[in-house]
Amino acid sequence: MTQNLLTLSATQALAGLQSKQFSSVELTHACLARLNARTHLNTAITVDATHALNMAKSADARRAAGDAAPLLGLPLGIKDLFCTQGLRTTAASQFLNNFVPAYESTVTRKLWDSGAVCVAKLNMDEFAMGGSGENSAFGATHNPWAAGYVPGGSSSGSAAAVADYQVFAATGSDTGGSIRQPAAFTGLVGIKPTYGRCSRWGMVAFASSLDQAGIFARTTADAALLLETVAGHDPMDSTSASLPVPQWRQNLSGESSVKGLKIGLPKQYFIAGLDPQVAAQVQGMAQQLAAAGAQVVEVDLPHTEYAVAAYYVFAPAEAASNLARYDGLRFGVRVPGATLAETYANSRSAGFGREVQRRIMIGNYVLSSGYYDAYYTQAMRVRQLVAADFTAAFQQVDVILAPTAPSLPFKLGEKAADPVALYLEDAFTIPVSAAGLPALSVPTGTVTNAAGVVLPVGAQLIAPHWQEARLFQVAHAWEQIRGPFTPPFQA
Ligand code: GLN
Repeated sequence: MTQNLLTLSATQALAGLQSKQFSSVELTHACLARLNARTHLNTAITVDATHALNMAKSADARRAAGDAAPLLGLPLGIKDLFCTQGLRTTAASQFLNNFVPAYESTVTRKLWDSGAVCVAKLNMDEFAMGGSGENSAFGATHNPWAAGYVPGGSSSGSAAAVADYQVFAATGSDTGGSIRQPAAFTGLVGIKPTYGRCSRWGMVAFASSLDQAGIFARTTADAALLLETVAGHDPMDSTSASLPVPQWRQNLSGESSVKGLKIGLPKQYFIAGLDPQVAAQVQGMAQQLAAAGAQVVEVDLPHTEYAVAAYYVFAPAEAASNLARYDGLRFGVRVPGATLAETYANSRSAGFGREVQRRIMIGNYVLSSGYYDAYYTQAMRVRQLVAADFTAAFQQVDVILAPTAPSLPFKLGEKAADPVALYLEDAFTIPVSAAGLPALSVPTGTVTNAAGVVLPVGAQLIAPHWQEARLFQVAHAWEQIRGPFTPPFQA
């Protein structure tokens, strides 16, 4: 019975709530029990069952009173970098291990206004810096597909919790790939919308010119529904766009919607470092879309190979500046020293993990007066060139199809000692972030790795600014062509 409830899509769960087949309290109990039974995956940092059940009760009461809010009673997980008023928010950092925000992020406030229930604050790489979930001060998250494998990162807990049927969907944030790559590693749909589509108000900042909220779900329709709810202009974030939010979910059509669509395969994404099984999956998807009437052509994104190097200049630069606020005085960890400077140093050494410290050092270095032009200015030039590549490509095609990540999910610890190996995991997601474009990862299918483990593969769809509709349209059409795909339910 519980399994039947948990494996519903968000859309189905909402229909069941609407037709009174079950209550939000029942759904929330099922999610809490599942979280409790599956703590070895380490998906959650904070679970407040009383708070969750109170939200569920109030959703049930709202429904009984005739309220028809779009997410009424739906249990969700929240990446632990969205501030939740009165509920601990850590960004998976020791620094914030007892930080209880006095305000609510705009994205989460919109979810609660729409009636959703907060089941858990989910694990992640500290301050969203990482691609494997191993940089969390609360321990690594495990991939529900296979014991000992990473779920991707930085939204590791969001991906693993949705793929493990602990929640019906989850929020994530994506600065250089943190929604798309873990979605690919766990067999989910993950969307990072256009930069500016969602408000960043109340999200713990990493690199403000790149950070963007998005959604993990098990189907494209669910992702569209949730993104509709959280997107939109917010006077509290001047970079959020004053554009109407389209009704994406209402405009999903079948397989025929790809007829005549021009799909570009970027040749720089099918390179030596790409796992051949991933390449074959994405090429197979392109062939099937072509068979359904799409026109698939090769496109050129010539500056792709410089994007990762440039990102690891401008992203740490912004991080160093954003993280200057953690001084040990106002909130979070404080380790007193003999002088003020010593208190800063002690607190920041104790509060930040190694990867975060590395990024702060890189960031301050590339911004320092002697090196600013050589590194930061240069990296920003590369960023412009990467963005211009996409502008040119979108003169030829409607949407771009590429692998989401170059590799299959790897083992915990496998790349932990080599930061550059981990940085290269984002070779195909970072260019999109640099350009501020919307992109979605959708499962293509599964493959068996060299150790005989069955793992999911994701393909990335990329669209011009504000054209999320195309991503949802192609992903939904692809789901009809591919046939049903969901992560296995592990008992
Ligand atoms: N893995 C990339 C990094 O470590 C991207 C992280 C993200 O998108 N938040 O910076």
